[in-house]
Amino acid sequence: MLSKKIQAALEGSSAIRAMFVEGKELAAKVGEENVFDFSLGNPATPAPELLNQVIKDLLDDVDPLTLHGYMSNSGYEDVREAVAKNLNKRFGTDFTWKNIVMTVGAAGGLNIVFKTILDPGDEVIVFAPFFGEYRSYAANFDASVVAVKPDYKTFEPDLSAFEEAFTEKTKAVLINTPNNPTGVVYSDETMKAIARILEEQQAKYKKEIYLISDEPYRELVYDGVKENFLTKYYKNTIVGYSFSKSLSLPGERIGYIAVPNEASDAENLLAGIEVANRTLGFVNAPSLIQKAVAGCINESTNLEFYDKNRKDLYEGLVKLGFTCIRPQGAFYLWLKSPVENEAEFVAEAKKYNLILVKGSAFGCGGYVRLAYCISNEKINRSLGAFAKLAKVYNLAGEME
Ligand code: PLP
Repeated sequence: MLSKKIQAALEGSSAIRAMFVEGKELAAKVGEENVFDFSLGNPATPAPELLNQVIKDLLDDVDPLTLHGYMSNSGYEDVREAVAKNLNKRFGTDFTWKNIVMTVGAAGGLNIVFKTILDPGDEVIVFAPFFGEYRSYAANFDASVVAVKPDYKTFEPDLSAFEEAFTEKTKAVLINTPNNPTGVVYSDETMKAIARILEEQQAKYKKEIYLISDEPYRELVYDGVKENFLTKYYKNTIVGYSFSKSLSLPGERIGYIAVPNEASDAENLLAGIEVANRTLGFVNAPSLIQKAVAGCINESTNLEFYDKNRKDLYEGLVKLGFTCIRPQGAFYLWLKSPVENEAEFVAEAKKYNLILVKGSAFGCGGYVRLAYCISNEKINRSLGAFAKLAKVYNLAGEME
């Protein structure tokens, strides 16, 4: 009865969502306050206060037929102009509203870009570990992802493996820094090397290979790390952005695509992306929230909140003897499973009411992901549960 594609999607259903459901079931048994649910990347600090005021003003002041009406499939011109100006001010780009397409979150954005450039059988190179949904997005267009293994010391991409991943079928490379699930921010040197390799491969295969930069965590950087904007490294870069994390609006489904003029065929690309937005059935990004984010374009999230969680969790876990990658961005922590099969570790952790997500969901077994976007009080209380878990594996933590 179901299509083959949906049957396949059901079988490989999201491990993150599955753990979230397990967390909810556990909460019903032992009480929500006793469950340490590190599964879902749902922001835990509210949208900026200004957002409410902007929405109220829009409702009071704008003609409802305009406010709730259809507009260009790429979004309101004034909203796109506000995005363009904001990017130009921060990153020295030269966008106008024509370079920007408002999208239904990053997920909607990636799907319309894939629809625009992928033919059946095409390949998209991704760097493991990666956001597992990329697989489904490529499969939507009968394309596939080719995963490149990481350098296991830094969790930046293994560049020799990257060079070897290109084939005749490579259409794009999809990159996500600050990264979900590792929290790693790729260095300037890594980005320059990726750009160099892309140039070489374009020359070798005599065709455009696009770099698609998925940037929902662009502003979530710590330890003095600077926000980066990747169009400066490689001219065929398409940027996908989301306000889901930066303004805590994941349910509102709002983001954008930016295509620089330097990209080959930029005008056609933008026209294709606009059509894809319509034919995939998004039609346009939701109207009210487009206007609302334009009014909050200079706002930012509560970075201190995430930073405190990051430090408390990382330092607490390392003290207990766990091996973790120190996160410098996003709100995820990547922890090495003390046993090879991390699914066993995830099951053991659940006995202590700790809900973690296995690394294989991100194309990288042997590790687990913790989303530390929960209350700081819970982070600190969870360390007691982690201490018990550390004992199970005889980890040599520091003595109190
Ligand atoms: N890309 C990455 C790396 C993500 O982590 C997420 C959400 O967690 C998305 C894309 C999808 O974001 P959105 O909610 O804007 O669709």
